[in-house]
Formats: sequence, structure tokens, C-alpha cells
Amino acid sequence: MQSKTSSLGEFALIQRFFKTQSDRMLASSPGSVQLGIGDDCAMITSDPQEEMAITSDMLVSGRHFFEDANPEWLGWKALAVNLSDLAAMGAKPLGFTLALALPEVNPAHLEAFSKGLFAIASRYSCPLIGGDTTAGPFNICITAFGSTPKDKAIRRSGALNGDDIWVSGTVGDARLMLAALRHEIHLPRDDLTLIEARMHQPSPRVELGIALREIAHSAVDISDGLFGDLRHILQQSNKDAEVFLDRLPKSATLLKQSADIQNQYAASGGDDYELCFTAPVSKREVLKKISANLHLPLTNIGSVKPMQHDASEIHLINHQGAKLSPEEASPLLQSFDHFA
Ligand code: ADP
Ligand code: MG
Repeated sequence: MQSKTSSLGEFALIQRFFKTQSDRMLASSPGSVQLGIGDDCAMITSDPQEEMAITSDMLVSGRHFFEDANPEWLGWKALAVNLSDLAAMGAKPLGFTLALALPEVNPAHLEAFSKGLFAIASRYSCPLIGGDTTAGPFNICITAFGSTPKDKAIRRSGALNGDDIWVSGTVGDARLMLAALRHEIHLPRDDLTLIEARMHQPSPRVELGIALREIAHSAVDISDGLFGDLRHILQQSNKDAEVFLDRLPKSATLLKQSADIQNQYAASGGDDYELCFTAPVSKREVLKKISANLHLPLTNIGSVKPMQHDASEIHLINHQGAKLSPEEASPLLQSFDHFA
């Protein structure tokens, strides 16, 4: 990255790009944060009726984002992926810490990063409460804290036979954007504009997660691909699933692509940050209301089945009601693995 570096020291940097904005947020709405940036630890009040949900996600330059990525988008996405984990548990965000390694101090870059970070922090009322800053290869690690009423967190292990399987929003757009950036697919400018935000500024489904607390039996957020993440629910619940391929929710932009691309990207694309959850059939009406209230489509893609063999399986059904052969199904069931 070609850039202007600055002689700004570590503490001046923290003050200018993080503490000022954080103090402002905390002054207007402290929530359960008793002490923010500036001491050896931040302090959060714990309510005896609540449990804390804790999650970390690391974004590594060259692995999760390009070296020259737009820093404002990076700031947004670094927190978005963590809030998406809180959403999947049904947790309300309380605050987050930021551990940052920077190859150099570039004020314009940090300014933009901070802008994106605090835009999403404010949107979800999740203040920055501490962190660490060091020189090193560009790396962003966020730990987010949330809360749920005791025993109300939505776990991956709770799916029951006969549950409907639901997906929020649409899936496959971030993968389509990636294909366009890699010049694998040409997209007209208008289409690019529509799906750009899906990749760079995902909307974690925090309100949905909270609304699902008493409704969903299990949930997971879709970061590595719909079927790969659904498989986590099935494995932890010891279940199979039957999924109707033509029900996968796709955006108008993805629907312009070939059927093969549509299915491949929606099934295994990754980076969607939608929720996949299971709920009993009796909750269909209330889910319709939640969907209308949140202006967020919820799509029933299939159902949870008893496990037939000694490992969980997803049985894919085509538009004619026939089960896909293992050869047809296998590419759709792949998911992203950093070490595979
Ligand atoms: P310590 O050495 O005790 O770990 P530091 O000197 O590293 O503390 O940090 C000073 C204060 O600034 C601490 O409250 C810490 O949480 C906060 N801080 C450091 N880096 C960041 C950052 N990137 N974002 C937010 N807060 C930070
Ligand atoms: Mg330190």
C-alpha cells in the first residue's frame, strides 16, 4: 500500500481514531458499559438474569481482504462479522474490543477505517470499549460481547425432527460480487452497485436473532456457505435435512445468472451473513409477522429429518421433486475451509 505515514504515536492514535468516538457513544448511551477505553480493562455490568455471549473474528490482510481494500468497508465488515455471530445466538450487542496490527500509521486510512467501524457500531448500539494496537502485518481482530436472558441463547444443537429450515434475506450475492471482482463473470454497472454492499457492508441480522429467541430451536449465521453452515446445525443436533433446491432465496441480480451459477453460489457462496435457523411448523405464522415487521424475507427451504446413517446428511431435492444424485449434489455441498 503506497501511503503517507505519520509520526502519530500509539496513544495519540488511539485517542484520535477510537477513544473520542467511543467516549461520545458511551456518553449518549452507556448501556451496561461502566468503563470504556483508557484503563487496563473495560468494565461491563453483568445482570444475574442474563448470560454473556462472546465471539472473536480475525480479518487478515491477503486472506480475508485485499491489501488495497477500502478501509471504510473494512471497518464496517470487521464488526459486522462479529455482530452476525451474536445475532445467531439471539444475543443483544453490549460492546466490543479491537486488536489492531498496523504496518504503518496512515491517518487517512485510519480515519476511513474508524468511520466505517463507528457507523456500524452506532447502527447496532455496540460501543468500542477497549483493545490493543501494535505494529505488524495488517490484521484486525474484534471480540464482541452480547447478552441473552438465561438459557435463551439459540444453540446449534437444538434442531428437532420436523422443524422447518429457514433462511433470512438472500444468499449468494457476495459470491457473485467476488466472481465479478475476479473477472470470472461480467456484471453491468447497475448490478454491481446492487450487490457491492452485500459483500463489503453486510447487515448482521441482530434484530432477527433477538426476535427468534423463543421461536427457533437452532440457528447459525451463514459465513462459509449456506449448506456448510447448515451442516453445523445438523451435526450438532444429530439430524439430516431435506432441502428443496428451487426454494433457496436469491436476489434479482443472482437470478439473471445461469441456473448452475445460481444454485452453486446460493448453496455454497459464503460471506452472506444471513441467518439459517430451524423452528417448529407451529411457528410459521409468527415468523411471517416477524418477517413483515423487520422488512426481511424469511424463506422455508426444507425440513429437519432423523439421521439415517452415522453422519448428518443434506438430501437435496430438485424442481421435479427428485433427489439429486451424489455427483450432482457434491459440488453444492462444498463449503469454505481455510485449511482444506
Ligand atoms: P495495556 O498496555 O494496559 O494493555 P494499552 O496501553 O495497550 O493498555 O491501551 C491503552 C488503552 O487503550 C486501553 O484501555 C486499551 O483497551 C485501549 N486501546 C488500545 N488499543 C485500542 C484499539 N485499537 N481500540 C480501542 N481501544 C484500544
Ligand atoms: Mg497493550
